[in-house]
Amino acid sequence: MTFKQSEVDELLAACHRRCCVCHKHCGFKMETDHIKPSERDGTNDIENAIPLCFECHAEVKCYNPKHPKGRKFTENELKLHKKQWLEICKNKPEIFASVPERDVGPLEGMLLELKFNLEVAELAIDEDAYLMAGCPLKQLQYERAVSEGVLILLPDTLRKKITEAYIVIGIADSYNSMCISIGPSGSAFDYARDKQIATLRSSVDIINGALSELKSFLKIEGDE
Ligand SMILES: [Zn+2]
Repeated sequence: MTFKQSEVDELLAACHRRCCVCHKHCGFKMETDHIKPSERDGTNDIENAIPLCFECHAEVKCYNPKHPKGRKFTENELKLHKKQWLEICKNKPEIFASVPERDVGPLEGMLLELKFNLEVAELAIDEDAYLMAGCPLKQLQYERAVSEGVLILLPDTLRKKITEAYIVIGIADSYNSMCISIGPSGSAFDYARDKQIATLRSSVDIINGALSELKSFLKIEGDE
């Protein structure tokens, strides 16, 4: 089911741990994907491996022929991307002399954003939860994943869990905005704050569910 480690090491070094399709530097957030999937008798020969970033991996894996959007990556095209990139890495190493900033892709961004929101939500379980009034949640990476067309590529179960998490995050954030606009006292404030805390508490399991589904999709094991 997996490629030989020593061959993977060589391949990752040869591509400078940059995605063969978009050329982004990935660090450990990288997949060595099967060009021809194992379900279709793709082998574990290193010739059948292509290093990809999470986003390109999602695009390659999750193309839905029932709802065709854009143009599907073919196996042949993937081979060409790999060949082309490895040739550039080998013959033009000067391009790595000035190392560009590592760009965080929308899926990685969403993973970090969900973790932040989870930490805020977990603080609301404490007895000091009333201090949470005024702490906003983050939704920027979700919006980015929607606008960059990544969310629509994800498997239905994962997309549903992520959407549920961001719905409850959105509700908690609305109560938070209410707290801020009402000001720090009075019964209306107490109402909004209690609602915010209750929503945050109920969001912990939902956000955790989305996080673990996203991690298993990205093949991140355990917690780093
Ligand atoms: Zn990529």
